[in-house]
Amino acid sequence: MSDCIFCRIVSRELPANEVGRTADAVAFRDLDPKAPVHVLVVPVKHVSAVRDATGTDGEALLGRVFAFAAELATELGLDADGYRLVTNTGQHGGQSVDHLHVHLLGGRQFNWPPG
Ligand code: AMP
Repeated sequence: MSDCIFCRIVSRELPANEVGRTADAVAFRDLDPKAPVHVLVVPVKHVSAVRDATGTDGEALLGRVFAFAAELATELGLDADGYRLVTNTGQHGGQSVDHLHVHLLGGRQFNWPPG
């Protein structure tokens, strides 16, 4: 989608601090990090949110995006202390970009429940 900021990052039309890429997902540093490590993992294909990743293909895509996020966490040295994977959905979830993304957050202690 030409008006989607994350689609434009995926296509490299917009710059981003990329940390990894597979055939169907791209990972880049969040512009406004909320933790020492804050990476966004987004599918190459435009999917608005997790609730739109339906059917066999959608479920398989979610699996690959989360598996890629876990691989990145290992590469970034987060396994020992742990980390958080979050996908905000819709207004109450606090989603501000309507292209499915998983936040990989690490490098500090997180609280529960979230604010
Ligand atoms: P959410 O609020 O869950 O939809 O997360 C969207 C995230 O995208 C926020 O943490 C923003 O800081 C981040 N963000 C927005 N624009 C960019 C960009 N151009 N490059 C990197 N991160 C971005």
